[in-house]
Amino acid sequence: MTFDYDLFVIGGGSGGVRAARIASGEYKARVALAEEDRMGGTCVIRGCVPKKIMVFASAYPDQIRDAARYGWDATAGGFDWPGFRTRLNAELDRLEATYRATLSGAGVTVFNARATLVDPHTVRLSSGELLRARYILVATGGRPFVPGFPGSELAITSNDVFGMPSLPGRVMVVGGGYIATEFACILHGLGARVTLACRGRQILRGFDDEARNLVAEAMQDRGIKIRCGVTVTRLERGPGGILATPADGDIIEVDAVLYATGRVPNTEGLGLAALGVGIGARGQILVDRYSQTAVPSVFAVGDVTGRINLTPVAIREGHAFADTVFGGTARIVSHDLVPSTVFTQPELGTVGLTEDAARAQEPIEVYATSFRPMQTQFAGRSDRALMKLIVSQSSRRVLGCHIVGPQAGEMIQLAAVAIGMGATKDDFDRTVAVHPTLAEELVTLRRPARKS
Ligand code: NDP
Repeated sequence: MTFDYDLFVIGGGSGGVRAARIASGEYKARVALAEEDRMGGTCVIRGCVPKKIMVFASAYPDQIRDAARYGWDATAGGFDWPGFRTRLNAELDRLEATYRATLSGAGVTVFNARATLVDPHTVRLSSGELLRARYILVATGGRPFVPGFPGSELAITSNDVFGMPSLPGRVMVVGGGYIATEFACILHGLGARVTLACRGRQILRGFDDEARNLVAEAMQDRGIKIRCGVTVTRLERGPGGILATPADGDIIEVDAVLYATGRVPNTEGLGLAALGVGIGARGQILVDRYSQTAVPSVFAVGDVTGRINLTPVAIREGHAFADTVFGGTARIVSHDLVPSTVFTQPELGTVGLTEDAARAQEPIEVYATSFRPMQTQFAGRSDRALMKLIVSQSSRRVLGCHIVGPQAGEMIQLAAVAIGMGATKDDFDRTVAVHPTLAEELVTLRRPARKS
């Protein structure tokens, strides 16, 4: 059988680009990649990168207020959203060009087209062209999910935020996960009056209770209204804005309603099921630990597989796929002990088990301290930080670490190295503190707050 390519990748996001680059650049496979939208995928174009830049932008008002407490004659003027958006778009253009240059430097042929599968070795491009490849990698990512209800078409999603013509003055954010909490903080920081409505009893379900309670408190202290146990049943356009009707409660009038109620994998219309590729209940492609589907020549990585929806995980899966299939080294990606950070203000960094999950597994000790960080305390802010370690009573291994505070993302990355290596509480205790820092609290926690 003759093939046009050794590998055809569908999707130019984090996972697909890494797989293509390694298969072609390192292992000299003949690789093509099709992307129907902008190169870079969710992370670069409408996710992590523009979001983080907006996090930076939204933090300045607090910093300027702090500067005044530190003696500077500083006041924040207005925020120039169109100017910021133009510079943000220019940065995304630059990053997209870098991605394209990386692919072409690695020898990957790029098609700016949608590709669908025709048979286990053939893809059809939206131009009509048919191409044959020994292997096909599906890396089509995911997209925001908005539940169906009257007026749901009035809702916007995280995809729409970056291109908004003007900043809304009053926003309702629906959802309580990463995206809802991050954008509630961003929009609040940029000057909007924000109400976050989440259906659970608290935001950030699945995160450590003490940590998420502290983040919720801090968000409320800053002026974000958090309404838990709320489901929106209708949106309609009123004379002064959008009217959101909660299942039980008063109608709320806002200028924008941002839905951040999860994401779904992009699997429809690709021809996957007809080929025999297994699709799970959430629409995700079912793969084994080598990212191989039920059709041996078809693999899938990243959010489309619904394992852990994080860019660094997709990158690892794409790399491991290339190593396994083209590099002669069978590699699997561990989905355990994956650290992550919610870029709220304050940030919440986490790795390993929550206190509740660890307690359900075995007897534990909990070491925790909550305090006002020096920098913001001096500035007169009430923000509290949390440093927390969950320790196994029997092995003394640190099972989980949860940090709330400035730069929690930077700290959790390093804590994850130690915890991934199997560090015990005694290893943490033996480490000399760097003083004065927030992170030193992780190595100076002497007495357990509780044992159970
Ligand atoms: P999440 O899964 O984190 O949160 C979804 C939220 O929506 C939950 O609060 C959920 O409630 C709620 N929800 C789901 N369905 C409904 C519904 N029908 N009505 C009302 N509420 C609903 O999803 P996100 O969209 O925030 O993010 C998607 C993924 O992207 C994340 O899981 C994460 O993997 C990744 N991501 C990571 C980031 C980071 O690393 N900083 C940043 C942004 C995204 P409940 O809890 O009750 O189910």
